[in-house]
Amino acid sequence: MNTGKASLLILYTGGTIGMVQDSSTGALKPFRFDNILEEVPELKKFGYNLSSYAFDPPIDSSDMKPEVWIKMAEIIESNYDKFDGFIILHGTDTMAYSASALSFMLENLQKPVIFTGSQLPLGSLRTDAKENLISSIEIAAAVKNGKPVVPEVGIFFENRLYRGNRTSKNNTEDFNAFISGNYPALAESGVHIRFNDNALLNPSENPPLIVHKNLDTRLAVLKLFPGLNRHVAEAVLKAEGLRALIIETFGAGNAPNEPWFISCMKEAVDRGIIVVNITQCRIGHVAMGTYETSRNLANAGVIGGSDMTLEAAVTKLMFLLGTYDKKNTIEALITKSIRGEITD
Ligand code: ASP
Repeated sequence: MNTGKASLLILYTGGTIGMVQDSSTGALKPFRFDNILEEVPELKKFGYNLSSYAFDPPIDSSDMKPEVWIKMAEIIESNYDKFDGFIILHGTDTMAYSASALSFMLENLQKPVIFTGSQLPLGSLRTDAKENLISSIEIAAAVKNGKPVVPEVGIFFENRLYRGNRTSKNNTEDFNAFISGNYPALAESGVHIRFNDNALLNPSENPPLIVHKNLDTRLAVLKLFPGLNRHVAEAVLKAEGLRALIIETFGAGNAPNEPWFISCMKEAVDRGIIVVNITQCRIGHVAMGTYETSRNLANAGVIGGSDMTLEAAVTKLMFLLGTYDKKNTIEALITKSIRGEITD
């Protein structure tokens, strides 16, 4: 594995990672990211060309929105030829949504786009930020046979690199904050960083990067629970302009068999709304038809989302609705892997 003299762009969008303690007040405040080499002098030892771009003001990732994803994608687009890889420092709360969104927006990506963040600020004594940042940089710089080892959007956290669109935030306490329940880690860092070649995307051709910037947010998520109120479900489906609904179902894709619920779904599908079935479980997939309670959904025209995470399903639908007009095309692509987000 050769890391050579890589040129990398570090984008700081916000989040805990970019905080330091004010020496006089003790309060946490964002530090000037142009000074990254001073804050983390260890980075100089790599000998890479590191450039940085900081969002001003930094964004707590709970305020993340498609407009900011478009800005991130545009920064990558305009710097794509100048850099070997990109590191995006991001709050952990919605990192999995952003990584999923970017994976769909960046078609034909051939370079690493590694998201990372931290549970403790860079300026705190026991911080996990330095290790996450340093390992992400090493991963983004890794080259094999003249090609980047990770030609895709990933999330590095604690000691694992996951595919971005397979990941969910799972823990608010542990340094190990993310889970990829249905896809193996792309790399593990211990004494060495070991890449899982069989799990990584391996584009054989080299078509130009296409950056998709149309995201349609006219979708809703309805999480099922025993006792879901009929009027609430109906009100969600009546939202003006709604084009797609994700239902988060139980187990392998099961939902109440009550006639009002099934006819509510069928009526929505008949009106042209795309309804996608995602499981509430972090591990496993939707298998519609295994139980009576999901066979009726399939008969109503609901589409099974297999093992997609909610984050991938939401952002994939935004991308598909924003890119394609025809309902048939969108429905066909939902169940197909377009960026490694679903097991076909
Ligand atoms: N609220 C913060 C954010 O997501 C938490 C973090 O950075 O981990 O921006």
